[in-house]
Amino acid sequence: MKYIYQITMDKIKFCILDVYPNDNFRICKDTAGGYGTGNNFGNSILSKILNVFTATQIHQPTMGVGYLLSILKNEVSEVQYTNDASSKMVQDADFVVLNSSIVAHETELKALEYLNEINKKTFVIGIFSSIKKEEYLKSNSILIEGEAEKFFNETKLNIENLNKLFNSGDKIIKAGFVENLDSLPFPDWVAYTKIRKLKNNFLNFDNRTAIPILATRGCPYSCFHYCTYPLQQGRKVRARTPENIVSEIQHWCTHFKNPKFIFRDPVFSINRKHTVALCNLLIEKKIKVDFLVETHLKNLDDELIKLLKDAGLKLVYVGVESKHTDVLADINRATVTQDTQYETIKKLEEKNIHVKSMFMIGNPEDDENKVKETIDYSRYLRNTLAQFSVFTPYPGTPLFKSYENILTSTKYEDYNQYNLVFKHKHLNASKITKLKNLAYSKFYLRINSTKLVYFYVRNFLLNLFATQNK
Ligand code: SF4
Repeated sequence: MKYIYQITMDKIKFCILDVYPNDNFRICKDTAGGYGTGNNFGNSILSKILNVFTATQIHQPTMGVGYLLSILKNEVSEVQYTNDASSKMVQDADFVVLNSSIVAHETELKALEYLNEINKKTFVIGIFSSIKKEEYLKSNSILIEGEAEKFFNETKLNIENLNKLFNSGDKIIKAGFVENLDSLPFPDWVAYTKIRKLKNNFLNFDNRTAIPILATRGCPYSCFHYCTYPLQQGRKVRARTPENIVSEIQHWCTHFKNPKFIFRDPVFSINRKHTVALCNLLIEKKIKVDFLVETHLKNLDDELIKLLKDAGLKLVYVGVESKHTDVLADINRATVTQDTQYETIKKLEEKNIHVKSMFMIGNPEDDENKVKETIDYSRYLRNTLAQFSVFTPYPGTPLFKSYENILTSTKYEDYNQYNLVFKHKHLNASKITKLKNLAYSKFYLRINSTKLVYFYVRNFLLNLFATQNK
């Protein structure tokens, strides 16, 4: 008689916990180099409408979550994702992975306290926990410094190894950066969209799945004094091969109906040769997709604009920040001349590549008049969309030291890039709110462009129709 012994091994259960405060505007942890931002455009009627619009029509999680959903789902482990610390998924997990940020900092600490109380072994990931280590380190937590996907992708995941880590007393794992980005699996957005839809309905205001994707990581530019991207990704640019990126795009085209792509690179087209190769490959393979990028105006020339258009670029975010050169020089922001800004934006818009120009108000050298002139300048540029955020000194950046003694808020969730959080020479919080209201109403209620009015009305109706027919 034959006996068949079947050994069944339970999989290790991971749960990614991603908590958010309850605000009535959109909070995203992926922006501002993983510190996150909150889109609180002000308190006028238009600003409130825009708050609701972005909160309901744009949603992208952190890229790290997408990668971990993929890496932690394998023959030895399974993974779930939740926004609720008290959920059964958390209760049942062997290990929790808590995603940190500045915009949800206090809410995350509360969740961590709870995880500590229920004795749940917790990995804390994300750049902000590396900046505020002492606050995220609890008796049951281990903090991963650097890119968590590197640690989980390169570590042999078995319960003994992981338990050993928690018993070792080492509280910090220095993961570093992923050198070869092609070595990572594609993020698992199919798993994510079972929980929440990936949306970016500003891209032609339509309702298709918006896939976040990365071509490069890292930014070497001089604005690292105030910017958090170099903290999260380093100042050296790392790029995936064009073949690997295109293969991911093809992968998502088979899983979602006609998706659009949101490139999350800090500065797309920072390496011209790489961008040209990527666009050529998309064109050569006849892959027809729409995509959105964020870049610096100095990285766009006529030839590249044409190539990007042919490859499917529909919307580009560019940082203009301020009209005033002294304001920009003070924060080490390199820029192109105003003539070049105007001409490049005009060329993009003429090719039907919509431009969202991004401005910062409340910069250290701003005063009310300078901000108003910057708002007028945003109208002069005549691009389709604009964003006005508030200068924020971030813990961890070189510039933060000069602000430590003049901070007006000790609550980090206020550091969402839409609040004034330090004592400004010429402005205060209520003035900033009024200037935000003014900026959004002056920009979005301009009727000096029939093309623009057509764009807003057509796309608003299309979106409404798509939503009703979902
Ligand atoms: S260009 Fe400047 S603001 Fe943009 S990601 Fe690089 S350092 Fe940050």
